[in-house]
Amino acid sequence: GTARVAVIGGGFGGASCARALRQLDAKLQVSLIEPNQTFTACPFSNEVIVGMREMPAQQFTYHKIAAAGVTVIPQAAAEIDPQARTIVLADGNSLAYDGLVLSPGIDLRFDALPGYDEAASIKMPHAWKAGEQTMLLRKQIEGMEDGGTVVIAVPAAPLRCPPAPYERACLIAHYLKTRKPRSKVLILDAKDGFSQQKLFEAAWKELYPGMIERISLSQGGRVTSVDPATSTIITDFGNYTAQVASVIPPQKAGRIAEIAGAADNTGWCPIDPVSFASKLVPNIHVIGDACIAGQIPKAASAASAQGKACAAAIVAMMSGRTPQTPRLSGACYNTVAPGYAFSLSGVYQPKEGQFAEVEGATSRVDAPREVRQREADGAEKWFKAITEETFG
Ligand code: FAD
Repeated sequence: GTARVAVIGGGFGGASCARALRQLDAKLQVSLIEPNQTFTACPFSNEVIVGMREMPAQQFTYHKIAAAGVTVIPQAAAEIDPQARTIVLADGNSLAYDGLVLSPGIDLRFDALPGYDEAASIKMPHAWKAGEQTMLLRKQIEGMEDGGTVVIAVPAAPLRCPPAPYERACLIAHYLKTRKPRSKVLILDAKDGFSQQKLFEAAWKELYPGMIERISLSQGGRVTSVDPATSTIITDFGNYTAQVASVIPPQKAGRIAEIAGAADNTGWCPIDPVSFASKLVPNIHVIGDACIAGQIPKAASAASAQGKACAAAIVAMMSGRTPQTPRLSGACYNTVAPGYAFSLSGVYQPKEGQFAEVEGATSRVDAPREVRQREADGAEKWFKAITEETFG
């Protein structure tokens, strides 16, 4: 009969994968399991936090994906039986599959940072999943009095979108500069170096002198606990009181990956980099932020490229062919002020069992302002293109 492929998670990875599966083989029965009727995108959500952009610009429906022949099931997957090849949905119904792709994104580890649980995330929003959390942080910043400190706590790697905490710091500083000029941004970081560090530090100096301070891991910046009642953040070397705190806790693959048995003791999912097949469970593929993808950063462009490559691998394997070695490319833009952005791009291929960067480019630190403006336009174009390709 017709082969059935189920995709769990309708974000950048899963939605791209479901569409690509239908495009590659119109006979496949493809289901996309996603509880939300609208998807809220994280890229550009830092702009929403500071009022440069409104939430509707981040939101997309699944109508076009359904029109492309994908069966969209508006449910969360609750259980997976890899031996029987069945999924139990939140409403109790079950679904049989021949092949299964997991793209559940991340979950926040509410057990990793003492004091930071789900209740604390209302007072100290991570805003690392876009939506309500984004608006909570925006309201807190809008309500803050001039002279306050906005603290951003950054976890150790791996995390979703490694440069985004620093982009957030810049955009918050941009907002404060005109509305609350005596205020400051303090980054408490569990890392020493970070993605595109030279570019960020040059932008801080040029655009926000004296407004952004960063305390790195070796300077004692690692957050060890928080007290939401007093808005206190405790690090290796000291205590800080925040008027607004965005605490980004450590992360792991979305919970369903763990339920499926596809996550290892790091919380992430080991895969074969050619087919995206789980190394732990048969007939399950894992893509996007949830998988361990070597040097590929956890980003929307990566999730989308992985979704397409995984679809091609599944179609090949189902017709008895060996999947081709993927060559994935991705770009990551950082907007640090209106009309001022820089970027990182890379090409990745499997090497010794893991994805390695085979080509890469970063914006020049000494580039003139016209280049930053062009990159800001490039960032907008990138977002329009990837969301149109995925959801439009
Ligand atoms: P997601 O896009 O998060 O999708 C996961 C989906 O799975 C969700 O819709 C969820 O509802 C669903 N799901 C989870 N569990 C279940 C279940 N049990 N059953 C059914 N469905 C389930 N990336 C870039 O490339 N460029 C950027 O500029 C950029 N900026 C960012 C800024 C911020 C502030 C943040 C936080 C991230 C940013 N990212 C950016 C990263 C990007 O958002 C992620 O890498 C990307 O969304 C990963 O795609 P994914 O498919 O793995 O997960």
